[in-house]
Amino acid sequence: MEDNLCNLKSIKQTMSEHNFRASKLMGQNFLTNKNICSKIAYFSQIDNQTSVIEIGPGMGALTFELAKVSKKVVAVELDKRLVCVLDTALKKLKNTKVIQGDILKLDIKRMIYEEFSGANIVVCANLPYSITSPIIMRLLEERIPIKAVVVMVQKEAAKRICSKVGTRNCGAISASVEYFSEPKILFNVSRGNFFPIPKVDSSVIRLKIRNNPFLKIKSEKLFFEIIRVGFLERRKAIKNPLVTRTNFSKQQILRALEKSQISPLARAENICIEGFAKLSNAIFRELKKTPKAHLDLLDQTPFNLKT
Ligand code: SAH
Repeated sequence: MEDNLCNLKSIKQTMSEHNFRASKLMGQNFLTNKNICSKIAYFSQIDNQTSVIEIGPGMGALTFELAKVSKKVVAVELDKRLVCVLDTALKKLKNTKVIQGDILKLDIKRMIYEEFSGANIVVCANLPYSITSPIIMRLLEERIPIKAVVVMVQKEAAKRICSKVGTRNCGAISASVEYFSEPKILFNVSRGNFFPIPKVDSSVIRLKIRNNPFLKIKSEKLFFEIIRVGFLERRKAIKNPLVTRTNFSKQQILRALEKSQISPLARAENICIEGFAKLSNAIFRELKKTPKAHLDLLDQTPFNLKT
């Protein structure tokens, strides 16, 4: 039975036995190709000392392949109906646990503390497209103690997520990804490998979490805020959004741009992450001159780590 978790016929059969229809809202597109599940497990570089958090196990296709090679798999599934299906499908696996819940709301650090004892942890998933960005941002910015994130996402999203800041395809998410991890597109998966068949193709990406940030940032909060604001008008001269969308003065912005050797006319999408680091440190120094006005942005606790 377990070996069939991935084949179209048995997926359809399970669905009809449980009177189940795939939910678009929950991004349910089940993998129908076992090779892809094995490939994801292989590229996750898992061994019997590594534990896995799987997001959205669905009917257990990927879960089964991950359980074969890892120490333990904890799979978080939002859809209550699937939890019953999974309990049956995975009952022979002793190292697998299914938790019903929303991965965006779950206290992941607590779960790690309760479920894994100091193991290396990798996050794996065939991600529902609607939660791709929020969950990746959460895992990175909350500094969840994991080694890597290996996930299937929409092909276009994969390009954006893995693009270096300052290149054509990048977006604001690329900044968090590049700051906290080393991203890589591993392989593409065409839409025909899922049921129901989605409208787009997918790619599997790996974000290898950095042990230490590779940039010296005075205030991470300010750094990410500058990037966020810059990307609101990514094709305009960087000075425009910085002047009109923040409460820094024009003089402060122009001085900081000069100190960091960035032209006021440069576009956000052409500034690399090192450039944003210099710029935000220069703005930090400017704001320090009038600290009362900018207390929150001068906060030097690591981003999102405030108690
Ligand atoms: N891994 C399975 C299913 C992928 S479809 C396979 O590859 O075949 C995406 C899965 O994520 C579905 O099972 C869906 O119910 C689940 N899901 C959607 N939103 C979720 C959330 N917020 N938290 C946890 N699981 C979620």
